[in-house]
Amino acid sequence: MQFRDLHRQYEAMKAEMDETMLRVVASGVYIMGPQVAELEQQLADYVGVKHCITCANGTDALRLSLMALGVGPGDAVFVPDFTFFATAEAVAMVGATPIFIDVDKETYNIDPCLIYEEYESVRCNTSLRPVAVIAVDLFGLPADYDALREVCRCCNIFLVEDGAQGFGGSFGGKRACSFGDISATSFFPAKPLGCYGDGGAIFTDDEHYADLLRSLRVHGKGTDKYDNVRLGLNSRLDTMQAAVLQVKMRYFDDELLAVNRVAAKYSQLLRGKIQTPVVPEGYTSSWAQYTIQAENRDELQVRLKAAGIPSMVYYPHTMSRQAAFEGLPKLTLTPTADQLTRTVLSLPMHPYMTDEEIQTVASLI
Ligand SMILES: *Cc1c(COP(=O)(O)O)cnc(C)c1O
Repeated sequence: MQFRDLHRQYEAMKAEMDETMLRVVASGVYIMGPQVAELEQQLADYVGVKHCITCANGTDALRLSLMALGVGPGDAVFVPDFTFFATAEAVAMVGATPIFIDVDKETYNIDPCLIYEEYESVRCNTSLRPVAVIAVDLFGLPADYDALREVCRCCNIFLVEDGAQGFGGSFGGKRACSFGDISATSFFPAKPLGCYGDGGAIFTDDEHYADLLRSLRVHGKGTDKYDNVRLGLNSRLDTMQAAVLQVKMRYFDDELLAVNRVAAKYSQLLRGKIQTPVVPEGYTSSWAQYTIQAENRDELQVRLKAAGIPSMVYYPHTMSRQAAFEGLPKLTLTPTADQLTRTVLSLPMHPYMTDEEIQTVASLI
């Protein structure tokens, strides 16, 4: 059994995919081909925002977002302590300081109630200037954006959405990647919408940020690419990856239905026996992961492995315990994040799982 069976997905769209990829090869236009702008329009329409700017990967999407917002040295950015490393890494790479916030035990997402206190603490106890929150849609579930928007308005700081795992989810009738002043996603192959390599995208309604981002992704270009008005990155989405994503977008809504069916089946079989993932009223998840919690997590993982079933610990370390962030100010403890690193286990999850496979995994649990 595969943890995320990308081969089955390819088989389901093979004829279309092969033809599309060969057409890109034959065109000779490998960078910024017409598929890139077409895809950006499709993605912006899908998410429900004015502008989509694609780039080389999700980490760059976060970094470019922070660059566009003018975040840099001396700035503090609040990030969840329980997330993939890139969320906090992007903050440090622009010279700012990540401040780690604890998460909600049920949704795994940043706890908005803790941000205001931490904001006051940064202002009183450090020389840093709090400028933004990066909320993560962990495992596919959008963060609590009503409360986040409120606290960001109150503190007058930016809200950035790390939708790397969230693309396809929704909250209050709005799609993920529409909730931040700027929102970022990733098209890494195993994400809900993945390409055949690295890729990413940034979403915003703000024309000024959109223009800045289009400049920043190509060496800070001005009127043309040999007129450089600022420092930027080389961070474009390849024409090939854009073409792959155009094909995958045609299947994406069906795949979302399928992963929701898989999650419902898992939960039906496991509820009451183990702590299953919670999707609060008004939310839908894109199920980047199906993550349970168990005190005997390690034992369960061994049992699954013995039966040939892969499972993953997302994530074994909190951000504040990563060696790369040693020495950063740690203003409060993050007990929930700590506990989750000891109890979480992500089970095989993808749109092409059969009922039989779901049953096999569930019965071993
Ligand atoms: C995958 C991921 C990223 C980074 O995306 P890449 O395309 O791998 O650079 C950032 N944040 C989160 C939460 C992720 O899961």
